Amino acid sequence: MDVKVKKIRGTRDILPEEASLWSEVEGKIREVCRVYGFGEIRVPTFEETSLFIKTTGETTDIVEKQMYTFEDKGGRSLTLKPEGTPSVVRAYLENALFQRGKKTKLFYIERMFRQERPQKGRYREFTQFGVELIGSKSPLSDAEIISLAFTLFEKIGVKDITLRINSIGCFRCRGPFRDALKEYLKSKLPELCPDCKRRFERNPLRVLDCKEDKEKLKDAPRSTDYLCDNCKKHWKRLISVLEKLKIPFLVDHMLVRGLDYYTGPVFEFVSGKLGAQDAVGGGGRYDELIESMGGEPTPATGFAIGLDRLVMLVEKKKEERIPLWIVNIGEEAEEAGFLLMEKLRRMGVRVEMDLTGRSLKAQFREADKRNAKYVLVIGEDEIRKNKGKLKDMETGKEEEIELDEEKIKERVC
Ligand code: ATP
Ligand code: MG
Repeated sequence: MDVKVKKIRGTRDILPEEASLWSEVEGKIREVCRVYGFGEIRVPTFEETSLFIKTTGETTDIVEKQMYTFEDKGGRSLTLKPEGTPSVVRAYLENALFQRGKKTKLFYIERMFRQERPQKGRYREFTQFGVELIGSKSPLSDAEIISLAFTLFEKIGVKDITLRINSIGCFRCRGPFRDALKEYLKSKLPELCPDCKRRFERNPLRVLDCKEDKEKLKDAPRSTDYLCDNCKKHWKRLISVLEKLKIPFLVDHMLVRGLDYYTGPVFEFVSGKLGAQDAVGGGGRYDELIESMGGEPTPATGFAIGLDRLVMLVEKKKEERIPLWIVNIGEEAEEAGFLLMEKLRRMGVRVEMDLTGRSLKAQFREADKRNAKYVLVIGEDEIRKNKGKLKDMETGKEEEIELDEEKIKERVC
């Protein structure tokens, strides 16, 4: 068929079979977040462009290349949100959530928009589940959100996720590390990709994050060797608690994450089952962001998990059997069957019937295809007697049953 209008590149249609997996995962997310004491927040789809420039960072891939930015009819520059943290922190400040207690624990499930090259697991509109734990500087808070993620993975039956973790230190340790890294990168510069040559000047840490150049930079200086006393203490305690929680992790000295606001520990959840796009999610601590947005100095930590990738890892369940299918012969029986079906549905019973006037044989074939447990046959005779024929589709046995919704429900459910 030649469909006249097609979907925009990088967007997707999620059809019922997959959508039911999505809602199952979303349900589990809400359950786990409730247990961990995180409240849901829903933020706008678009924000002032300056919000992302100031927070995500001017020299990041997201802001440099990926934002859907447009001018609205009032001449304002707006951007479809490419990530959740800036909006959540803005909402935290704007709604003075800090007045409600020392700690604020929020989660979101939101659509995000990034104009990057679409491929498996990478879309231009996608969904993230994220948490933000605002107000605690304890490494136990980092451990708490990481543990939350692993509890979720277990609940939805996603196995073999590893945590990759590093500490890039606070802005104070970052200076000496950046200098050492620049010194090291100078000698490698001719070998680096064009993007990294540019990054070397503007944001040298990002060079470590480059997928192309990773191999060549194995002996680069390690950020964990440049941590100040506070950051070192934080890092050591976090690692030791993760061990006690039995969370499988790997210290990855090349992990720096692509956003500007991270301070201290940064991490990614990776799966061996995703191919090239192996990160299911990532996050880290951002102790300076809230102050930089005009709030009081407030430590915070958070992560975002891509649901498009997470759902790919969830095993599809077999579709639940439909308990009852009503097969009808003739117009009168069609209406009687329909009225009975509606009564049963109002009682919570899943019932289907054909309303396209097909033959008895075709209706049976459909009931069989949809894996119905019972088929109830109603014809004119049956209406007169107020009794239908109920066929058990597994055994093939038939019995008469009164056309009474209570009796039918009791028999088929
Ligand atoms: P990647 O290295 O894969 O580009 P990222 O560092 O850009 O990831 P984050 O900004 O940390 O990703 O977002 C967290 C998670 O959101 C990712 O691990 C991924 O699961 C998901 N994600 C990010 N970008 C996309 C996208 N374009 N399409 C689908 N999911 C995405
Ligand atoms: Mg990306």
